[in-house]
Amino acid sequence: MRILVVEDDRDLNRQLVDALTEAGYVVDKAFDGEEGHFLGDTEPYDAVILDIGLPQMDGLTVLEKWRQDSRIMPVLLLTARDRWSDKVAGIDAGADDYVAKPFHIEEVLARLRALIRRAAGHASSEISCGPLRLDTKTSKATVNGNTLKLTSHEFRLLSYLMHHMDEVVSRTELVEHLYDQDFDRDSNTIEVFVGRLRKKMGMDLIETIRGMGYRIKSQDSKA
Ligand code: CA
Repeated sequence: MRILVVEDDRDLNRQLVDALTEAGYVVDKAFDGEEGHFLGDTEPYDAVILDIGLPQMDGLTVLEKWRQDSRIMPVLLLTARDRWSDKVAGIDAGADDYVAKPFHIEEVLARLRALIRRAAGHASSEISCGPLRLDTKTSKATVNGNTLKLTSHEFRLLSYLMHHMDEVVSRTELVEHLYDQDFDRDSNTIEVFVGRLRKKMGMDLIETIRGMGYRIKSQDSKA
């Protein structure tokens, strides 16, 4: 999952980026509204953390512009404490949720997980497919109750496919969502990671759709 953080306070921006990276996300960052707007307009993010008070262009304007241009990624707004008018304006502008400053980073992470899950149509924090279960809260995956030992790359790949169950996901889409903008993107590496995942899962839940990409099909969860 790839996240954009738009926050002009450098310390706070770094704290958010560090916490998100540690939680297994790929993160891009911007320090003003114009840069943030441009990135959100041109790159495919799974969610955005957007501060309201930003130089160049304020957060609400950024958000309104995205929504006008049909950019529908979930957006979590950072609002000033006790500014209820900010919250109302934010939701009217198309925000999916907000957190008031000062916040605990854990709250931001929890709200973000919920936004990403809901955007993918999953109401609970656990997504399962037959014997495979993905716990988005602990970033753990299990098969028949046995925890898979996955690298962060492998987990991100599995998590993306699980969040988009029954969809054919192209290699290009995977590369765009699993690496940050500075990464040297080579879609051949995706095939290698898929191969490793299959081996670690000990079963072939990931289908290769020739010439199209990959798909995890939902299964009867009675198993
Ligand atoms: Ca600010």
